[in-house]
Amino acid sequence: MAPVLRLSELKLPLDHTDADLEAAVIKRLRLRPGQLRGHRLVKRSVDARKKPAVALVYCLDLDLDPAAETFLLGRKKPDPHLRPTPDERYRFVVEPGQAGAASERPLVERPVVIGAGPCGYFAALLLAQMGLRPLLLERGQPVKQRTTDTFGFWKGTLPFNPESNAQFGEGGAGTFSDGKLYSQVSEPRAYVRKVLEELVDAGANPEILTLHRPHIGTFKLATVVRGLRARIEALGGEVRFGARVERLDLDPTTHAVRGVVLADGSSLPSHHVVLAMGHSARDTFAQLHHQGVAMQPKPFAMGVRIEHPQQLIDRARYGEATGHPRLGAAEYKLVHHCQGEGLAGRDVYSFCMCPGGLVVGATSEPGRVVTNGMSQHSRNERNANSGIVVNVTLDDLAPYGSGPGDPLAGVAFQRHWEERAFEAGGGSFQAPAQFVGDFLAGQPSAQPGTETVAVAPSYQPGVHYASLEPCLPAFVLEALKEALPAFEKRIPGFAGKGALLTGVETRTSSPLRIPRNAKTLECTNTPGLYPGGEGAGYAGGILSAAIDGIKLAEQVALAITRS
Ligand SMILES: Cc1cc2nc3c(=O)[nH]c(=O)nc-3n(C[C@H](O)[C@H](O)[C@H](O)COP(=O)(O)OP(=O)(O)OC[C@H]3O[C@@H](n4cnc5c(N)ncnc54)[C@H](O)[C@@H]3O)c2cc1C
Repeated sequence: MAPVLRLSELKLPLDHTDADLEAAVIKRLRLRPGQLRGHRLVKRSVDARKKPAVALVYCLDLDLDPAAETFLLGRKKPDPHLRPTPDERYRFVVEPGQAGAASERPLVERPVVIGAGPCGYFAALLLAQMGLRPLLLERGQPVKQRTTDTFGFWKGTLPFNPESNAQFGEGGAGTFSDGKLYSQVSEPRAYVRKVLEELVDAGANPEILTLHRPHIGTFKLATVVRGLRARIEALGGEVRFGARVERLDLDPTTHAVRGVVLADGSSLPSHHVVLAMGHSARDTFAQLHHQGVAMQPKPFAMGVRIEHPQQLIDRARYGEATGHPRLGAAEYKLVHHCQGEGLAGRDVYSFCMCPGGLVVGATSEPGRVVTNGMSQHSRNERNANSGIVVNVTLDDLAPYGSGPGDPLAGVAFQRHWEERAFEAGGGSFQAPAQFVGDFLAGQPSAQPGTETVAVAPSYQPGVHYASLEPCLPAFVLEALKEALPAFEKRIPGFAGKGALLTGVETRTSSPLRIPRNAKTLECTNTPGLYPGGEGAGYAGGILSAAIDGIKLAEQVALAITRS
């Protein structure tokens, strides 16, 4: 079928058949029998605004009789949600054939990518597809070994490994996550489509192409990243693990990149280096700053993770429709603009919500505790969790820096509070946890008795009931105390006494930005260095990091083929 028209905003009740869907199209467009020859699902979302009538909303590409197509588009008052099907094919900026000659050049022209997260993997994949045989360097381990290391730490059977954990290793920070593929970016759709199609080719469920808010789930993600690696290698690229880049080799006169130096002392020459190191590469941030790579401090957010029974969220969102087979575990998104004294300009919002998931230890450094969340594809764990975080401004960071504008002040801020959480958790990587009732009353929590109705913590490697006050800045405490009751009005039970807070959630986004040229995407003071993804301040999730990786690959390919 060659779809010609796209129809959106087509609403149907939860219980409908395929025949009902076609009938709804025919009715909506007032078609005659036989004029609709077929349809292809583009997107499907849930509209739960008018409970109990929860609806599914479709966007479809329609294969129509040519006469019907002309008639529909030529109508005096065409359907506002009907338009020609857009061309969503991704087009390479450098065709593989064109780059072929470049791929035969010696290693000095071979692009290097630092970091095997979504940004680095997509940069490497695109470079490989354009024939440029990238060399990808990852400090952590392949996903199989990384899974053993990380789950071993969570279960308490292996010691914490600073080079192989929730942040570092194949797939990057999002490997053990819910694998949500949502993004605030309004890029030309070709990028989004390209990422989703590559993920499907690498092993993700094809439903991610058509669900409005798709997610992959953690175990599936492990398969997908292995699939991405295989595709890069099949195209002549190379992926090396346990390969931490210690520093850049920079031309002393021009400050241009000449290559990279690894932690084992070996060096690799390259004039095109993609820097996709993620937001937790604090040692690498410090080294690059020391080498004079341009950097600026950047605001981010911090707070705690909250857990509720998933049932509570489902009831609030879906009402009577809770449990319907066409609805998964419900999500939420909450924002509160603070109004209390001294809190002007503070926003509290939910971050990285994981329906039916687990809270996990996401530190990358010893002596520190960091929370985050992950889910399986099925999202069928008993608790829902999300970060409830408060915006941190540059003024908040100033006391932690070595002077005005210190780009590493945010790292010092994060470390300070992560250390307080480690102490409050008892000093053994357990996270401090406090019930919302106690938090609002300003009293520490104790291990609940069997008679208490309270959320059972899912955090691994375990919680220590305590007070969160010593591990949160005063403005975060005050903002959370104002926001939780406000969120209760949106989701009854959200600020219930037995809801559980675990801390601290500090790795919400990078605490710094590496400025880059808007057109070439090179670092403003380091030619040949292409900083990107979350660590450099250009992405806030898996999808946006992957898209940024594609854009970096495009600029590298253009630079190499022009040189
Ligand atoms: C537990 C958790 C759950 C999350 N859930 C979601 C979610 O559901 N949806 C979503 O969109 N986002 C989620 N995120 C955020 C998402 O994972 C990140 O936004 C995304 O991974 C950023 O991609 P990136 O490629 O820029 O960096 P990263 O994914 O952080 O990758 C950077 C890579 O660089 C490597 N590296 C660092 N320094 C060096 C060096 N010096 N030499 C060599 N290699 C180096 C690291 O080991 C790492 O593998 C989650 C994050 C976590 C931690």
